[in-house]
Amino acid sequence: MRESWQERFAETPDVLLGARRQRTSVPVLDFAIGGDEFIIMAGPCSVETESQLMATARHVRRAGARVLRGGAFKPRSSPYAFQGLGPEGLKLLAAAREETGLAVVTEVMSECDVPLVAGYADILQIGSRSMENYTLLEAAARSGKPILLKRGMVATIADLLRSAQLILDNGNPNVILCERGIRTFETTMRNTFDAASIALLKQVTHLPVIADPSHAAGYRDLVPGLARIGIAAGADGLLVEVHPSPDEAWSDGEQSLDFEEFDAMMAALEPWIGLRGMALHDDELEQRELAGLRPAEAVG
Ligand code: PEP
Ligand code: MN
Repeated sequence: MRESWQERFAETPDVLLGARRQRTSVPVLDFAIGGDEFIIMAGPCSVETESQLMATARHVRRAGARVLRGGAFKPRSSPYAFQGLGPEGLKLLAAAREETGLAVVTEVMSECDVPLVAGYADILQIGSRSMENYTLLEAAARSGKPILLKRGMVATIADLLRSAQLILDNGNPNVILCERGIRTFETTMRNTFDAASIALLKQVTHLPVIADPSHAAGYRDLVPGLARIGIAAGADGLLVEVHPSPDEAWSDGEQSLDFEEFDAMMAALEPWIGLRGMALHDDELEQRELAGLRPAEAVG
């Protein structure tokens, strides 16, 4: 008999969906991630200016987003690229939350910055390049803030689960996994969107899973299609880059949607989000069976 997923991922028992473990729903401000509501996180790649951030926050809020994203500390592919506004960016994010009621997710890159970033953010983002930085993960976990853990671009699903397990081990149950594309031989797109990982993670773990079609695609015209795939694969929400004027963005402009494109995507996703709601409840039993829980375990 083939080994069960439970056996395959036995090294990280606390992240696995088991007979006695309920799905994790992460409380943030006045809502939850990983519950019935499909959560949209949207905003610019980087916080640039007050007007850029406020205009985006107001717009995505009106379109139904719950979380404002925006990097103040930016990990970049080039050391000469814009590295983020730092503390100034964090203040702008907090001001946007104040005005719009959106929660704030922003990346923390160094364990030294955890107290600073946790002082402003509602969710700490661990970037793809930092997924295996265990010192950072421990510090972020201990802040007590929910953690959006992005999959490393060359990390396996088991690697991702190990990092999640480390956060749980450090006393923080509020981990949100994020699939943002991985590196493969295919170079046409920025990354290869691993939709199967979303389906698998939803089957084997109790943690919420967010799809990031922006970094996965690298090109804005592909973002709505990948978003749809993410929903169909079982994601609990999306992380999408939006900018008032993507061609002038200081980072990741090519994959950022303008306001009109974001609205069009949201309208097109509506029926898919509705289908997801219907499927959620029916799926629960089947999912547990597929997760490799043997009948004896499943009944208790
Ligand atoms: C980002 O969210 O802007 C980002 C840098 O993402 P990743 O770590 O997935 O590259
Ligand atoms: Mn980005």
